[in-house]
Amino acid sequence: MITAIANQKGGVAKTTSTIALAGLLAHQGSSCLAVDLDPQGNLTTGLGVEVSEGQLTTYEVFTEQALVLDAVVETRYDISLLPTDISLAKVEKELINQEGRFYTLRQQLETVKDKFEYILIDCPPSMGLLTINALAAADSLLVPVQCQFFALKGLEAVLQTIQTVKEKLNPDLKVLGVLPTMAEKNTVITQDILKTLRNQLDGIKVFDPVPKSVKFAESNLAGEPIHVYAGEWRLVQPYREVIREILLLEEAMEEEEED
Ligand code: ATP
Ligand code: MG
Repeated sequence: MITAIANQKGGVAKTTSTIALAGLLAHQGSSCLAVDLDPQGNLTTGLGVEVSEGQLTTYEVFTEQALVLDAVVETRYDISLLPTDISLAKVEKELINQEGRFYTLRQQLETVKDKFEYILIDCPPSMGLLTINALAAADSLLVPVQCQFFALKGLEAVLQTIQTVKEKLNPDLKVLGVLPTMAEKNTVITQDILKTLRNQLDGIKVFDPVPKSVKFAESNLAGEPIHVYAGEWRLVQPYREVIREILLLEEAMEEEEED
């Protein structure tokens, strides 16, 4: 099961969510590959990996100079990582005229589908070539949104892109749901935003919100998934719900295959 974590808006907790989910999947004993598709490399550093000179990264994978497994490194907490540094930024320009450029990642991930039960792709904050590649490769998509006034406005563009990708590149893409993040407890604004999301997103699941907590920033700095850094139920529970949804979708897909 390949899951992309995407939203063109920056700072909505895409990377934090990827680490939280990868941590929980690895903790339950599943083999999990986290793919850093953001030239900022926050997932890479967030998992405690520093890319050294000459090290193979997502860039070499994208430009077909390396296979995924050549570049994958093991991190603490049993999460495998396809690491990234700023060199990945060149890809958008380099592949611009290449035929089949939207399927590069999909083809590369095909080679490791038997090796990992779960692959999570942390996308950059844009709907450019990299994110399109993630959506073309993914079985499912999680959209984190920050609980703030303009959350819904940004979402419209995301939903539009998903629709286009489904029509043109990947008809099987399933939206797991929208994950509200950084929710301030019991404020009227947060309640309002959640209500609006639930009313307006027809047929799309809105997960229980991830509370706002400084523990997430601290866990990023410590290079630890949130369940390791802070075992607080209220911080981890929304992510467990996302995993439950991934498992349900997986079952449904298996049944479909059998039919
Ligand atoms: P970018 O678009 O730049 O890739 P992103 O969507 O990946 O950003 P993160 O880097 O995961 O977002 O998070 C942005 C900031 O918000 C980080 O400093 C992170 O520690 C913090 N953060 C994430 N989740 C929460 C939360 N639930 N409560 C408070 N802070 C959070
Ligand atoms: Mg990020």
